[in-house]
Amino acid sequence: MKPKITLGKHSGFCFGVKRAYDLTCVNSKDCDDVYILGKLVHNNDVCEDLYKRGIKEIKALSDIKEGTVIFTAHGVGPGFYEKASAKGLKIIDTTCPKVMKAQRIAKNFAGKKYQVIVFGDKDHKEVKSIFEWSGKKAKIVGSPTEAKRLKLDKAKKYCLVAQTTQNVEEFKKIIAFLRSNLKNFVFFNTICESTDDRQKEIRNLAKTNDVVVVIGGKDSANSKMLHKISKSINKKSYFVENSKQLKKNWFSDIKKIAVSAGASTPEWIIEEVINKIQK
Ligand code: SF4
Repeated sequence: MKPKITLGKHSGFCFGVKRAYDLTCVNSKDCDDVYILGKLVHNNDVCEDLYKRGIKEIKALSDIKEGTVIFTAHGVGPGFYEKASAKGLKIIDTTCPKVMKAQRIAKNFAGKKYQVIVFGDKDHKEVKSIFEWSGKKAKIVGSPTEAKRLKLDKAKKYCLVAQTTQNVEEFKKIIAFLRSNLKNFVFFNTICESTDDRQKEIRNLAKTNDVVVVIGGKDSANSKMLHKISKSINKKSYFVENSKQLKKNWFSDIKKIAVSAGASTPEWIIEEVINKIQK
């Protein structure tokens, strides 16, 4: 009997990535020199699609003198808008509104003399942007353990936000710790519900299936997080970027396979992976 394949309901492009992709495709159509600052999403297949549309990737604003620059869904710090405007560049801003919310909270609370704390990966573009919106004053913690190492001052006011793709359970632990150690503490759950839904779903899929395949770009934070959660529950959890990376021996003697995909994985890649598993 053929194994049953279940595709998670919360798989593939989230609202923010779909919005960024659509804004990029529509707005760049009539422009000649269009550049994207970094990758629109952490998915090579999507990036290839954009290159075919004539959109070139740049690493820094200093790489270009004129044209249109696209800011990605991960967001950028305020300095990038200033620099681009000073150069006379046209801006297509695809920052996800949910990332923008975390950036604005960081800016507002830093302005009100709160010590902003960001729960996130310090090397991730989104976290760097939130840091910059805090006036470069935020402290970044990557885990509850790191939060416990912070030197806290009870006389100070603190404000906690999170990278939109962080682990909800770990965020709750950080909130509990700060709440019991501080007098003036506010927090904002800026973890995207799309991330939360996916994480809840992958826990369930990992428990109820023999094998779990998570599809995502190798640099995609939310996809890697899905794989990490799945693997902690089901050892037979695999991470692939596309159908070429599937291995036949993962699927021998099993009855139920679950497939899930990160927020930056396009539908066409998900279809390809499912078709290959079926074959
Ligand atoms: S995962 Fe959420 S925050 Fe991130 S781009 Fe998608 S909708 Fe926006």
